[in-house]
Amino acid sequence: MPQHKNLNVVPFVSVENMMNIVTTDGIAETIEGIANYILQDFRKWQSFDKTPRVASHSDVGVIELMPTSDGELYGFKYVNGHPKNMKEGLQTVTAFGVLSEVSSGYPVLLSEMTILTALRTATMSALAARYLAPKNATTMTMIGNGAQSEFQAIAFQKLCGINKLHLFDVDPTATRKCRKNLASLGFEIEVFDTPEDAIRGAQIITTCTADKQNATILTDNMVGSGVHINAVGGDCPGKTELHADILHRSDIYVEYPPQTRIEGEIQQLGEDHPVLEIWRVMADIQPGRTSSDQITLFDSVGFAIEDFSALRFIRDRLSTSDKFEQLDLIADPDDPRDLYGMVVRSKKKGLFDA
Ligand code: NAD
Repeated sequence: MPQHKNLNVVPFVSVENMMNIVTTDGIAETIEGIANYILQDFRKWQSFDKTPRVASHSDVGVIELMPTSDGELYGFKYVNGHPKNMKEGLQTVTAFGVLSEVSSGYPVLLSEMTILTALRTATMSALAARYLAPKNATTMTMIGNGAQSEFQAIAFQKLCGINKLHLFDVDPTATRKCRKNLASLGFEIEVFDTPEDAIRGAQIITTCTADKQNATILTDNMVGSGVHINAVGGDCPGKTELHADILHRSDIYVEYPPQTRIEGEIQQLGEDHPVLEIWRVMADIQPGRTSSDQITLFDSVGFAIEDFSALRFIRDRLSTSDKFEQLDLIADPDDPRDLYGMVVRSKKKGLFDA
């Protein structure tokens, strides 16, 4: 029988492992690492299998699977979005993911992805802004100061040089938490009572709110020429943040158009409304921002390749660490055709006797 690598045990990155990695390396440094992996993967965009995520909707939220493959590795993420969870003391977004070898189909990594999703979402937002935001932008408004917000701020600081933040949330406790968490990280932070006041003087506006409805976080008259909008919270059918008039004045950049047309701000527009694909900008096929009065919009919904890149980053990072569990996930009979025999012999061998 041919020898095979020990593929029946799968490295498992728990929440504790992830927090250990991120706090050991630093959140900003982890974001920088993930950014390099996203850029590598987005620059070979055409070699990936792509599909809009597979979503199961309910009245209160959505559960989704996000698969992709580059021919060598296959990855998927399980993720939910439940805006009402927060009031019940639960996360709005939770996730875990798997990376597998295409050659055998065996999983090679199982990881928590609630923290990793916040990191990759922030990384992707800041990477897009690097190409789309006004040059020398210093100030970002953040509307929605929940679980994603600090990661967004740190990514924009690390990748775009943002050092001033304007904060607004309908819930002042969220803003207080965000301000406190970011207090020692070198930002100049101002808190505002209205979104209108919060956006004054900012070159970048990040909307990251959670509400299962077509909300109007920004109206048309709030958005002046020359700004970059990073719209993160509208990521589901019937869940948007921007008034449609803003979209008509903006150059709209998206991840994967077939998915964003279902889930993004552009669900409010016709199917043929022009959009630009951000991978083309990252691959130097198309320019990013070309003029100082242009309104650019990154209509972020989160795409499978970003999760794939983040999982690849974590897998490579693990090779220098052995403080994670190996899961007994894959049945491994001595004779691959004798799965039944393996099960029956396990009883005879007394493996489960008390
Ligand atoms: P969260 O529930 O922790 O925080 C959301 C915040 O928005 C809360 O503090 C809430 O008070 C605030 N808010 C709600 N309505 C508001 C309004 N009208 N004006 C100002 N603030 C308002 O959620 P989170 O984990 O931070 O996620 C935020 C959103 O981002 C969710 O909708 C989530 O689905 C989405 N998301 C998108 C991506 C992506 O890749 N695009 C990734 C992760 C999360």
